[in-house]
Amino acid sequence: MQATVEEVIRQKDQTEREAQATTSKLNSCTADNKNTERMLETPREKGGLPHRMTSRQVLPPRDNYPKLYSVAVAGREGRKCKLSLRTKDKHTQDEIKRLLKAKINPTEINVSILALKTLRDGRILIEAGSKKEIETLGAKIQERCGEELEINIQKLRNPRVVILNIPNDVTLENAKDTLTQQNTELNLTEGKTDPKFSYTTKRGMKNLVIEVDSNTRKKLLQNRIKMGWTICKVDDYIVAKRCFRCSRFNHTHKECRGIETCPLCSGNHKLKECNTPKSEYKYTNCQV
Ligand SMILES: [Zn+2]
Ligand SMILES: [Zn+2]
Repeated sequence: MQATVEEVIRQKDQTEREAQATTSKLNSCTADNKNTERMLETPREKGGLPHRMTSRQVLPPRDNYPKLYSVAVAGREGRKCKLSLRTKDKHTQDEIKRLLKAKINPTEINVSILALKTLRDGRILIEAGSKKEIETLGAKIQERCGEELEINIQKLRNPRVVILNIPNDVTLENAKDTLTQQNTELNLTEGKTDPKFSYTTKRGMKNLVIEVDSNTRKKLLQNRIKMGWTICKVDDYIVAKRCFRCSRFNHTHKECRGIETCPLCSGNHKLKECNTPKSEYKYTNCQV
């Protein structure tokens, strides 16, 4: 037993010595590589997620002069304008990129490309700084590669929030006035408040969905909102994109590569053709 303990201690010492040697070696390496490291450093995005260099190519900015901090920050805050490209034939993503680079010169049409990404579903996604730029680019691609590629400019949507548990006498017509007049301290008239629709939950709670701008969204989420005699909570209104065909999330039936699946019983038929009794429902997305 004694011998074993000594052996363990000896081994431990040995390991520590080795570790020390490795650390000092590593330190000298790091010192050598400092310059390289600095070059590889890229500005972090929101949330501090690391860049995925493999799927993202950022082209150098078109302008050579440095940007003001406020301009750079403003750009990051604003939402990006995107378009996606899909092959009409059987081009691979590399071939699509090659085609683009051969036929389109962004400088010529005054468009600065912020990112060129490959998506998992075979599409290529391009980001540009403004709506105008993405439209110019889209038109040019249509003109020169329209036969090979399908172009889809993504629409930017304003955020939507839901005001929970509003009184019954608040309607779509009077909601805007009620909201702005009863919550004057929030200065809601400055921004966008567009009532879209209201719905009643199973528990009889009436909720109102309104379209707002990002500033108004912040104000509403951070405060309790007075509506008539009620004080209401506000939440983001988020709807997941769900496919009508295969009932899975994050794509639509147009992009679907799955098979017809009933959302209730997971059978291979449409929802309206479902005859399965309620006790035998098996939700597609709940199965492991
Ligand atoms: Zn689908
Ligand atoms: Zn069914």
